[in-house]
Amino acid sequence: MKVLVIGGGAREHALCRSLSLDPDVTALHCAPGNAGIAEVAELHGVNALDGAAVADLAAGLQADLVVVGPEAPLVAGVADAVRERGIPVFGPSAEAAQLEGSKAFAKDVMAAAAVPTARSYVCTTPAEIDEALDAFGAPYVVKDDGLAAGKGVVVTEDVEAARAHALACDRVVIEEFLDGPEVSLFAITDGESVVPLQPAQDFKRAYDGDQGPNTGGMGAYSPLPWADPKLVDEVMATVLQPTVDELHRRGTPFSGLLYAGLAITSRGVRVIEFNARFGDPETQVVLARLQTPLGGLLLAAATGNLAALPPLRWRDDAAVTVVIASHNYPDTPRTGDPIEGLADVVAQDAPDAYVLHAGTRRDDSGAVLSAGGRVLSVTATGADLTTARQRAYRAVGRISLDGSQHRTDIAAKVADQAAEATETRGA
Ligand code: AMP
Repeated sequence: MKVLVIGGGAREHALCRSLSLDPDVTALHCAPGNAGIAEVAELHGVNALDGAAVADLAAGLQADLVVVGPEAPLVAGVADAVRERGIPVFGPSAEAAQLEGSKAFAKDVMAAAAVPTARSYVCTTPAEIDEALDAFGAPYVVKDDGLAAGKGVVVTEDVEAARAHALACDRVVIEEFLDGPEVSLFAITDGESVVPLQPAQDFKRAYDGDQGPNTGGMGAYSPLPWADPKLVDEVMATVLQPTVDELHRRGTPFSGLLYAGLAITSRGVRVIEFNARFGDPETQVVLARLQTPLGGLLLAAATGNLAALPPLRWRDDAAVTVVIASHNYPDTPRTGDPIEGLADVVAQDAPDAYVLHAGTRRDDSGAVLSAGGRVLSVTATGADLTTARQRAYRAVGRISLDGSQHRTDIAAKVADQAAEATETRGA
């Protein structure tokens, strides 16, 4: 199987790493990729947002499967352009990707499918905005209707800040605040059948203790020892399958990765948001635990053959990923700094810990430089979360990048709780 992956972050590096370990994948290509992906795939300097260029590349490579990583190409119709050439593609149509691209569309689908989510109003006038803010009270949750790379959402106690954000959007969704821990659950779907992956949790704030600004994600872990073992079955029945069925019924089937961002509230599970692609950094930990070869799984989804696939196999191991971000991320990240120590991780920590690249590039001398906000995603596995996080942080300690930042508390609380629970059981 020849596979072309579109994108160039740590999520795509994780996808490429897993694909490179699939014995059925004979050739692996990526556009545009990054310095780490270059070690497992052949890179192509094609604009990921240009559907015709991506389709030309896929046809030229005689690709058997194209995997679209990020949301922007999906919303821009890149999957449609590839599919029109008769090439199997893992990723939804632009229409179905509106599940992520438009908060209002997602709310409409959830209402039609009776999927539990925050009560909400879609507002376009100042009067509607004030009415909605009044109706829900603090904390206020205000979401730009369009795709905003996680930056369109404001959650605040301050009604003036909420109003100001709402007025700055053309169309805005104002909704009820959902209390409770968040879970990311991914599912692979071919538009009819749905196969859930294992849940993960990510850390969105920049600094330890969930302080500081929101980011794309500073770390993640899986499994979730605190979660109800029936959570996945429940979300399958109340969220994932009804959503896929509703989009199928509308004639815009969703095939690809359906990401449910969930809040576990005192009144039950609620959908915070849908995404139309693998989440970053949760993908890094979920794929670290997936034993089933990834290429066959994604191809089955792309060709409508998921129902025939045997159940997924998972490693018993836990996985933790820690993101190393550049100086001044997320505001004005500095790029172009040299990264040292990558070879030490390979020499001393592999295969239990490894480095996935996000914003990196190689200069003419072959040195690896930072080239984005999130730079590396250091991932490790172990028999439990405590071991996995120790291994991840040991590897983080070997890497130097001037001015870089990372959280020191990824999966710390949950690892301690899980260890305590094990001790109590043993005593
Ligand atoms: P979204 O882009 O919709 O995922 O929102 C980004 C983040 O804002 C989420 O991961 C939550 O942490 C927070 N958030 C969004 N909606 C709500 C809500 N209704 N209640 C509480 N927090 C929310």
